[in-house]
Amino acid sequence: MEKRKSKIVGKKELLSRFPSLSQNIFDQADQLFPVRITRNWLARVKSMNDPLGKQAFPHSSELKSQDGDLSDPVGEEILSPHPWLIQKHADRILFITTRRCHLYCRYCFRRNHTGAEDPTKEELKSAINYINEHKVQECILSGGDPLAVSHARLSQIIGEVRTPIIRIHTRAPITEPNVVTPRLVQLLQKRSGVWVIVHCNHPEELSKDVRNGLRLLIQAGIPVLNQAVLLKGVNDSVDVLRRLFQELVQLQVFPYYLHHTDSAAGNGEFRVSLERGLSIYRELSKIVSGIALPKYVIDPPDGSGKIDVATYVRNNHGKASRNP
Ligand code: SF4
Repeated sequence: MEKRKSKIVGKKELLSRFPSLSQNIFDQADQLFPVRITRNWLARVKSMNDPLGKQAFPHSSELKSQDGDLSDPVGEEILSPHPWLIQKHADRILFITTRRCHLYCRYCFRRNHTGAEDPTKEELKSAINYINEHKVQECILSGGDPLAVSHARLSQIIGEVRTPIIRIHTRAPITEPNVVTPRLVQLLQKRSGVWVIVHCNHPEELSKDVRNGLRLLIQAGIPVLNQAVLLKGVNDSVDVLRRLFQELVQLQVFPYYLHHTDSAAGNGEFRVSLERGLSIYRELSKIVSGIALPKYVIDPPDGSGKIDVATYVRNNHGKASRNP
């Protein structure tokens, strides 16, 4: 019987298919933040430095500290009432359902998180109890990737969390679209108020199977929104962002946020200055309609929560030329 290929591409295969990938850089970067690339994603990569390759392949810049590196870039540590929960606002709570992802994006702002990959059964139960006792409006399932947990666990969370709205913040439909199955959709329909917020940064991420998965969710009546991150060398271009947002709207996926890159140690290679980000956004706002224009936001390190970049720059005395 033919051996089934793993969904994740192993180190040996990556090194042999991409001879310019240094084993030394791979090993060192992997120690800091695991290198993990899905076979599905790799099929869309033409070179290590193209927009999709850049997001997934380790780079020497990850190994050096850079100006602006922050250990807690969006101020989450001080706002954690439970080991797996973060609460910045009275009406919302963020639930780290796992620290695992199908693919580890090299720019991830949680790339320096340490600790267990998943909550224990007891921790899961106590996190759900905390959420229910505090009567918040929205529970945001995040991570890691909440669609990297088993269906049994996801079903438990969705069934037991009693907030009116549950938001599932996931990159899985983009990096490993095979996770979007009729069975998953059925699970998400187990209760009302489930929204899915995907994370797509470049139009080339929207392959045929990614589009099919998104359609499956939308046709089931599940609202689907997108968050993108502004990334140097990936999508810091008016034309790329225009194409991305217009294609998402055609799919009926609402472009919700464009995030300014959070300055986590190791992701300096991807940072765009506030000045350049604002300039791209202003140009974009002249050529796309309101439904194709996400809010351009930044999540400051003081933990105060997202704010639009223009206001943030104004409040910080016009210091637009640096990263926060
Ligand atoms: S999927 Fe999200 S949490 Fe996971 S590595 Fe990518 S950006 Fe980070």
